Amino acid sequence: MKVHLKQIPPQGLHLTGEEDCPMQDLASEEIRCAGPLHYDIDVGVGDGGLWANGSLSQPVEMRCVSCLEKFVHEIRVPAFAVHTELPGPETVDLTPFMREDLLLNLPAHPHCDRDGDRVCKARQIKSKEQDGKRKSDWSALDKLKLNR
Ligand SMILES: [Zn+2]
Repeated sequence: MKVHLKQIPPQGLHLTGEEDCPMQDLASEEIRCAGPLHYDIDVGVGDGGLWANGSLSQPVEMRCVSCLEKFVHEIRVPAFAVHTELPGPETVDLTPFMREDLLLNLPAHPHCDRDGDRVCKARQIKSKEQDGKRKSDWSALDKLKLNR
C-alpha cells in the first residue's frame, strides 16, 4: 500500500480499509491468501522520516501439521510499527513492511484447532488402520520439508 506524503497533514492521518493480500507470491500448497489484508493504522511524517503504527489482519489458508487438512487462520499483527527514512518526494510503499510483519506472525507449526473453533481430526484417531494412515501422512510431510 502506497502512502502519498503530500496527503499526510502535520497531525498525521488515520487509514483503515482493505488491500490485496501482500503475500500472493507465497501461493503454494502450504500457505495461500484467503482474503484481503485489513489495516487500521496511523501514519505521519516527522524527523525526516515516515512513521506508521496500528494493527493488521490477514486471513490465510494453511495446512494443519497434525491432520494435514487445510484451514483458514487469521494472522494478526496487533502492534504494527514502522519508522522509515523518506526515500523520495512522493510516496512510501508500506507493503514490504506489512508483508514482513505478517510473515513474522505466521505460526511455524500450524494446528487447525489453534483458534478453538474446530477439533483436529488427528486427536480423534484411535483405530489401528487410521494410525497407519497417519504415519504415511507424516512421511509425506517429511519429504515436503526436505524439498524446501
Ligand atoms: Zn488438524
